[in-house]
Amino acid sequence: MKQIDYFVVTHYDQDHGGNVARTAAKMPVPIRAFVDHGDVMSQSGEAQEVYASYRKALGDARRLIVKAGDRIPLAGVDVVVVASAGAVLKSPLSGGGAPNPLCSGEPARPSRGENPASIGLAFTFGRFRTIDLSDLPKAIERELMCPNNPVGTAGLFLVSHHAFNMSNLPLLVHALQPVAAVVNNGERHGGQAEAWQAVRQSPGLEDIWQMHLTPAAGERNNAPTRFIANLSEAGCRAHWIKVSARRDGSFRVTNTRNGFSKTYRRRG
Ligand SMILES: [Zn+2]
Repeated sequence: MKQIDYFVVTHYDQDHGGNVARTAAKMPVPIRAFVDHGDVMSQSGEAQEVYASYRKALGDARRLIVKAGDRIPLAGVDVVVVASAGAVLKSPLSGGGAPNPLCSGEPARPSRGENPASIGLAFTFGRFRTIDLSDLPKAIERELMCPNNPVGTAGLFLVSHHAFNMSNLPLLVHALQPVAAVVNNGERHGGQAEAWQAVRQSPGLEDIWQMHLTPAAGERNNAPTRFIANLSEAGCRAHWIKVSARRDGSFRVTNTRNGFSKTYRRRG
């Protein structure tokens, strides 16, 4: 690897933009461009601080402010911004655009802060698709997915917002019909029961893979340990979950802690 072409800073909360300067400094290769949603939208002191430190870390790199519908160039992969700065994708991706039958009930209350401004990305590689909506809350999930679903299906779902209950409406998760999901949760960050259940009850979902064990969620919600990369934050070795996708839509997920892996086929 000789450089990072695009480094996406989804939003300016501490657990997302908070370590950009340190990460960039530790990176053995240069970062050519940073991608973000624009100016900080939260008045909170923490977000303002994160934004200021990010602006400093930009250095000589190019800054790309993206809007919903924009693309990030990546050879062979179609990377589409489906949400940014509170706005959502209007023109559907290939295979998307049909009415979403799960759109019912009351709209969620809009939430403030940086989460609704998060950059959401859809990655399409042949017949494989995955979606990462960062920390988008329920109100924006509904705006994106109702009345029509512009994304279509996504075989792999990167669970939103560390599996906090503020995100992961069934009208999003179930409409995507994922075969597998990966949760970027912490030992004490995310992994809440309602969100976990919304994902687990998604029709056709085979497995949830986790970045960490979340003891507070109990046995009912945590996946079997072979699907979990880090079992304790004490002495954590920062194991990770690897995904390799093929053009035919199949993909293989590997737990780098124990080498356990499983291949998933595209449905339909
Ligand atoms: Zn977060």
